[in-house]
Amino acid sequence: MNDSISELHGVGPKAMEQLNEMKIVTIQDLLEHFPFRYEDNAIRPIQEVQHNEKATLQGKVHSEPDLRFFGKKKSRLSVRILVDGLLVQAIFFNQPFLKKQIQLGEHLIFSGKLDRNRLAMTGGTIKSQSGDREAGLEPVYSVKGDLKVHMLRKYIEKAFTQYGEQITEVLPLQLKNAYRLVDRKTAVYHLHFPLDMEAFRQAKRRMIYEELLLFQLKMQIFRKREREGAEGQEKVFDQTEVNTFIDRLPFDLTGAQQRVLQEICHDLQSAYRMNRLLQGDVGSGKTIIAAIALYANVLAGNQGALMVPTEILAEQHATSLRELFEGMDVTIAFLSGSARVKERRETLAALRDGTVDIIVGTHALIQEGVDFQNLGFVITDEQHRFGVEQRRVLRNKGIRPDVLFMTATPIPRTLAISAYGDMDVSTIDEMPKGRKPIETHWAPPDVLPRVIELMKKEIKKGHQVYVICPLIEESDKLDVQNAIDVHAQLSQALSSLRVGLMHGRLHHEEKDAVMNEFAQNRVQVLVSTTVVEVGVNVPNATLMVIYDADRFGLSQLHQLRGRVGRGQEQAYCILLANPKTEVGKERMSIMAETNDGFELSQRDLELRGPGDFFGVKQSGLPIFKVADLIEDYRVLEIARQDASKLVHSNAFWNSSDYMNLRDILEKQGAFQDHKFD
Ligand code: ADP
Ligand code: MG
Repeated sequence: MNDSISELHGVGPKAMEQLNEMKIVTIQDLLEHFPFRYEDNAIRPIQEVQHNEKATLQGKVHSEPDLRFFGKKKSRLSVRILVDGLLVQAIFFNQPFLKKQIQLGEHLIFSGKLDRNRLAMTGGTIKSQSGDREAGLEPVYSVKGDLKVHMLRKYIEKAFTQYGEQITEVLPLQLKNAYRLVDRKTAVYHLHFPLDMEAFRQAKRRMIYEELLLFQLKMQIFRKREREGAEGQEKVFDQTEVNTFIDRLPFDLTGAQQRVLQEICHDLQSAYRMNRLLQGDVGSGKTIIAAIALYANVLAGNQGALMVPTEILAEQHATSLRELFEGMDVTIAFLSGSARVKERRETLAALRDGTVDIIVGTHALIQEGVDFQNLGFVITDEQHRFGVEQRRVLRNKGIRPDVLFMTATPIPRTLAISAYGDMDVSTIDEMPKGRKPIETHWAPPDVLPRVIELMKKEIKKGHQVYVICPLIEESDKLDVQNAIDVHAQLSQALSSLRVGLMHGRLHHEEKDAVMNEFAQNRVQVLVSTTVVEVGVNVPNATLMVIYDADRFGLSQLHQLRGRVGRGQEQAYCILLANPKTEVGKERMSIMAETNDGFELSQRDLELRGPGDFFGVKQSGLPIFKVADLIEDYRVLEIARQDASKLVHSNAFWNSSDYMNLRDILEKQGAFQDHKFD
């Protein structure tokens, strides 16, 4: 299986180069280069075929074929065929060799796209001459460069003849029998050469399960070793002190908050290292959970760090933590990337000698030169914004701290299993009492005058308004609203009010100043780019207007929208957008229909597909050969349970029944000491 493809008869240096180009190096690579789709060659009655639809038809050749050449390589072959009583003109471009398959008066099965008006078929080929009506699936492969599909198919056929016997079973008999799966060799064969629909289905079903089981096994082996191998600290703290702190809060924790807090505290107290994801919708109260957990960590005599994506948010968190811990013996510091040299030096020294109990900051926290005396616990907020690499650096800092990732971008369960299968997941699935859902509307931009009236109305009630624009300043490339222009317009339209401007290019001090003025209602309208997207908390703001809303992702819109509706009052969100596509309109409707971040992310996922969901770089999602994370969601769930049972069983680790499975996992790096992202 690991032999080079050059071992195949008929694969010379040139073919080898072409195959290597496609990352096909070994026999195994070749055999596992599965078709990316299948064409259904079932012959259909012409009456059923729609205009411009691709189909396979059968008919009787009614005219002599006419072949013409243009230039050196181009040709056009046309023939009239009588199909179900209609005379169809079949045209085949650049396939002159088809001519000899066409005999006047004979039956022909051919494919193409049907133009109903001209009764012409183009863009297809001849399937067979015979009249037998065997319906078939035709595999379609991706190829690169000069490699021709029919050659690739030939190589795969050869690989089967020479190496087919070496395709060994990897699934343990017990699972294979339980799910009545076909053996590996049969499955691989039928994915390339599907005998019929049923054989294909069984082959696919088996390979999907295998692929997802291996994937889940890798995740869970990693997770098991993290737990067992990690010399985590057992943090000892007095639960009653934690409870006293909770009792002092101006509100009761929701049931969901209590539950996740218990899960987190349990991790802190246990000997294994916490690697946990805390997810909860915008406004579900994650921050207070972070604060309580950090407090428990401090009580146990450790330092803690809270990492957030922006400076604004870091400062805000530092401020609210200071308020929370007022009068208590907990020292909070804020490490800013733009801090003055002296200030920074002092903070760093205080971190090193242990004076600081809790540090809040951005990525600056994991830079060189930031050392802790006793870092026990790291929380990152909105973790999807931190790259994999940063996560790794962070985890390796200090004495293997417990790590909690918080995110307000709820991840559809399917993706949570896949992307975070190596983590424990806690979910806050309950909002604090008394929250009113945000009323969301979408409208074309020409309703702006009415929107301005709405702004005035809300401001008259003493409330405040966010206005979000995609860009900072005018761009000749994009025809979208920019914050600077909108700020100028609104300042004029609302001349009796104060309109603030906020964007990423302002200096640190300027941002602070604007944010403070808005927080204190000295500015009523804040025109901003997405810098306010995460975490910013001004409960008096009740209206958000988003320009060119269709330029943002759904999760991002939901995040933005989460800046309002944080108080007792009814809040509104107006999406100004003129989407040109159906998908664009659909997205705006979804926003207006649901306030539930989980539902929204699920629908976003369905619209965009998993690759785009996190953004390509940060996805951390594996690329599957046959499985599809959305379609095969149920199988994934089953594979996860099976994998979990396996890694916790003795047999999996010791019995010879599982040897092949262990071998393949070994080959795929599952037992090495790193995470496979
Ligand atoms: P998140 O970080 O999950 O978006 P926050 O932690 O910022 O949410 O909480 C949003 C607001 O709700 C904050 O003002 C917070 O003080 C408040 N809050 C948190 N938990 C509760 C609760 N159990 N009851 C009432 N208000 C709460
Ligand atoms: Mg938050």
